[in-house]
Amino acid sequence: SVTKQFEVRTSRRWLTAPSVLTAVDGVDLDLARGETFGLVGESGSGKSTLGRLAVRLAEPTRGSITFDGRDISHLHGAGLRTVRRRMQVVFQDPLGSLDPRMRVGEIVGEPLRVFEGLRGATLDDRVAELLRSVGLDPARARARPRALSGGQRQRVGIARAVALGPELILADEPVSALDVSVQAQIVNLLAELRETLGLTYLFIAHGLPVVRQLAQRVGVMYLGRIVESAPVDELFANPRHPYTQALLAASPVPDPGRRRERAVLQGEPPSPLRVPSGCRFRTRCPVAMAICAAEEPPVAQVGLGHQAQCHRAEAGT
Ligand code: SF4
Ligand code: MG
Repeated sequence: SVTKQFEVRTSRRWLTAPSVLTAVDGVDLDLARGETFGLVGESGSGKSTLGRLAVRLAEPTRGSITFDGRDISHLHGAGLRTVRRRMQVVFQDPLGSLDPRMRVGEIVGEPLRVFEGLRGATLDDRVAELLRSVGLDPARARARPRALSGGQRQRVGIARAVALGPELILADEPVSALDVSVQAQIVNLLAELRETLGLTYLFIAHGLPVVRQLAQRVGVMYLGRIVESAPVDELFANPRHPYTQALLAASPVPDPGRRRERAVLQGEPPSPLRVPSGCRFRTRCPVAMAICAAEEPPVAQVGLGHQAQCHRAEAGT
């Protein structure tokens, strides 16, 4: 299990001690080689922090992170760089994560130049091959990010991420900033690369529909915890946590003939600085009971590989 806390100052008075914000609160997450785990939740649920911990862009406050059988929780320097090569990130905003002064070929070729010492024609050939593998014309190597569309920029971000042959990719809302028509193309590209390159993905999304196409397992995060996780079909068919049920009810149904009433979640999630007692979802839960304020629900095993942290799931209702 892993925990990440940040100190935040909620007052400008310097004598006030900083508050401790627990962004990820004792989460257990195992990824099998070759699988895609979809992590879903509202803004502020801690999903990006959990992703950053998984690829050791962040160091845990408590608990441990194991990669390929090795504890990498507190690696630094050269040791960290060596494992970090094997784990890459695709970010939400390709424009923000690509240096606007560099050409596409330099962006994609940089890791090869820095880590593998490639130069000249060898480097150019490898860059062209990478651009082709993400569906871009190698002639785009001379373009700058601003000259590309959002989808093309994300393809560049993906080409850079796979340049060094990583094993694990954190995709942190890789399609959230893209037009709906382009989202499916990028999701398809990620699925194709998973097969051809044998990748494992931790795929973060705001909503459930996007992860459905790609993930084998899904975890739903709320205020720093994974409150429900299950194989993808099981989660969609048999959601057991009221939060997952609300997220599913709030998702637009693609077939207009079957359009459901949108059951929109009440209110905003509480601040992670003031996590409610008992069940952290109780302030927004439509079926909360007295026990929910008093006791934190245990993680109940509600099916094969299916866990939910809810008093009602535990009672089997
Ligand atoms: Fe709702 Fe209670 Fe379940 Fe929390 S434990 S999700 S408040 S029913
Ligand atoms: Mg985020």
